[in-house]
Amino acid sequence: MYCIAIHGGAGSLDASALTPELEKLYHEGLNRALNAGYSVLRHCGSALDAVRNAVMALEDDPLFNAGKGAVFNFDGVHELDAAIMCGKTHEAGAVAAVRHVRNPVLLAHNVMNGSEYVLLSGEGALDYARRAGVALEEMSYFSTPGKYRQLLDAKMQRFARPSDTVGAVARDMHGNLAAASSTGGLTNKRFGRVGDSPVIGAGTYADNATCAVCCTGDGEYFIRLVSAYDVSAMLRYRGISLEEACRIAINEKLTALGGEGGMIAIDRTGKIEMTANCATMPRGWMQSDGRRGTAITFPEATIG
Ligand code: ASP
Repeated sequence: MYCIAIHGGAGSLDASALTPELEKLYHEGLNRALNAGYSVLRHCGSALDAVRNAVMALEDDPLFNAGKGAVFNFDGVHELDAAIMCGKTHEAGAVAAVRHVRNPVLLAHNVMNGSEYVLLSGEGALDYARRAGVALEEMSYFSTPGKYRQLLDAKMQRFARPSDTVGAVARDMHGNLAAASSTGGLTNKRFGRVGDSPVIGAGTYADNATCAVCCTGDGEYFIRLVSAYDVSAMLRYRGISLEEACRIAINEKLTALGGEGGMIAIDRTGKIEMTANCATMPRGWMQSDGRRGTAITFPEATIG
């Protein structure tokens, strides 16, 4: 069984504000990304390339808080975080607080393949991007009116909040797992804040022996709980199911600390899990047995 699952961020959407037009945009964006990832898997490609391509499609979609459409930070600019991890080799690449990079997940993949490092940040990451030849954009490329309104709201209420982060997990026909995440982080974030998405083990993790996981929501909690790795460790050391491990990570541990969010995961057999402790998490899945779907709210659409 080869398969892919994606998410477009937990908790940021007010279910009551979901108009039919907005719902349609989410389903369309999720389906585009699913197709981008799944076509890699169908053509015998790797889980790693599948999650990279799916996340790039979400980064190019202004609806989501990654790449074009990333949220504004306190200073009114976009600082982007992304990570990718290969479950077969345990290689990983990540970038944090990077500006101008059109597809941060592509840069993360470059860091993984072309450098001796795992995580590059800020100006240094931008310098690396120039040398790697990845596409750069003017800062205005990333800006959208909707995310600017979110910044104004956040400034009025003096908060920093998660929104529409993206992620993908996949299993390819060789049984290899991979995970990738990308985000603009929190609206109104300050002081070079970096969330869980580019932190390997916190927001993004993959291990062929267990599972691939992407988290979304209140990043500080996922960092403290090392949530993505925690799910993998529960499978490895306690032998419990993916479903039970995700439930413990989100409904017990995250909830107990007062955090809000969700995760998507695929285990080594191709079982998919998508869970959250909030009302919405746009998500989609596609499996080689023909099952596919997209959903936004909970408890809408469970995977059979
Ligand atoms: N987890 C992301 C962060 O804290 C935000 C999100 O998932 O929307 O940067």
